[in-house]
Amino acid sequence: MDRKHSQHLYNEACEHIVGGVNSPSRSFKGVGGGVPVFMEKGNGAYLYDVDGSTYIDYLGAYGPIITGHAHPHITQVVTRAAENGVLYGTPTVLENRFAKMLKEAIPSLEKVRFVNSGTEAVMTTIRVARAYTGRTKIVKFSGSYHGHSDLVLVAAGSGPATLGSPDSAGVTENTAEEVITVPFNDTQALQDVLDKWGDDIAAVLVEPIVGNFGIVEPAEGFLEQVNEAAHDTGALVIYDEVITAFRFTYGGAQDIYGVKPDMTAMGKIIGGGLPIGAYGGRVDIMENVAPLGPAYQAGTMSGNPVSISAGIACLEVLGQDGVYEHLDHLGKRLEDGLSHIIKEHSIPAVINRRCGALTLFFTDRKVTDYDGADESDGELFKTFFHLMLDQGINLAPSKYEAWFLTTAHTEADIDQTIEAARHAFSQIEK
Ligand code: PLP
Repeated sequence: MDRKHSQHLYNEACEHIVGGVNSPSRSFKGVGGGVPVFMEKGNGAYLYDVDGSTYIDYLGAYGPIITGHAHPHITQVVTRAAENGVLYGTPTVLENRFAKMLKEAIPSLEKVRFVNSGTEAVMTTIRVARAYTGRTKIVKFSGSYHGHSDLVLVAAGSGPATLGSPDSAGVTENTAEEVITVPFNDTQALQDVLDKWGDDIAAVLVEPIVGNFGIVEPAEGFLEQVNEAAHDTGALVIYDEVITAFRFTYGGAQDIYGVKPDMTAMGKIIGGGLPIGAYGGRVDIMENVAPLGPAYQAGTMSGNPVSISAGIACLEVLGQDGVYEHLDHLGKRLEDGLSHIIKEHSIPAVINRRCGALTLFFTDRKVTDYDGADESDGELFKTFFHLMLDQGINLAPSKYEAWFLTTAHTEADIDQTIEAARHAFSQIEK
């Protein structure tokens, strides 16, 4: 595939934009380097690059695109919203409408607040949890990404039940010491931490289905145990549903498992592809937020009519009959096809899938936590990624990410993807 124009634009980007990209995950650092493909158009399941090549897209812009690119309903609604003026700095009827839609879909959201990104949403839930409990420490699970605010850019300490260490330059040791990281799906490790620091812990922060070291589901009873253990010590439970809200069902992952958190952070899909975040939860907790309470949170762009309109339009599409059945059907077809290829070859690989989201890990053991994902073979993934890209299949350039299907993908797209994977496996095996 010719990528001359992408190469040229990337060289230019590197002169003006730090690292040539506006988010590090877009660079090809995780797949042995190379030139990120510059896309100029998206339509349905496809992206079109500046050199004239077409790709079947499974990146989905890292999650927000679930109805396909340039979905006609969302495009029309966004255009109309822009024509009415993009920002007023006053409340609008759209915000009321969207808040009611979210509350109906996810009943634990007794009150909500709109912000501009998943990062803001998570960051604020932590502030509110601290305000409510009067405590400072947070427990999170290793490998989960919760945005780029200081407090959640913290890695596990040197052993179980130790305090964290900064995962990014610029995050202070003092900040890192407010965060304790335990393995996902490990209730004993969580209990140990709560036994040791229980009185200091404001909240346990968890992705109810992990999307950030691949798709990893909670073990049976895990979420119930998180709730029980946290509440026993007086800590709150915050669900980060930035990836999972409206991904697998018309609601949150919490609605699939029937377990209620105290607060939830959302983003991605709820903006229909435009910048958004939202958080919400129990009314007695949410009423700690300004102007009602002492926990300050604000935003010039928050609740802007264009993002809110896109979110409403996206949920209107997702609320139609059969949407999630269709995503599940396509996801199963892709999983079955890939599983077949794995059996035909001697390359160790396993698949984790829920509905229209899956991850192919190059390992022979079931992946249930970050260590499992981390141990999967990055070299094999790099080779596979480039072989797929060269056949017009756009995957996320990292072994830790998911493949996201959209309502626009067809069985023919899936079959073409499976054939590309078959070719890639054969090339790898040579
Ligand atoms: N939480 C999770 C689970 C995410 O996956 C992400 C982004 O990938 C975030 C939070 C941060 O969201 P944003 O990139 O919109 O700030």
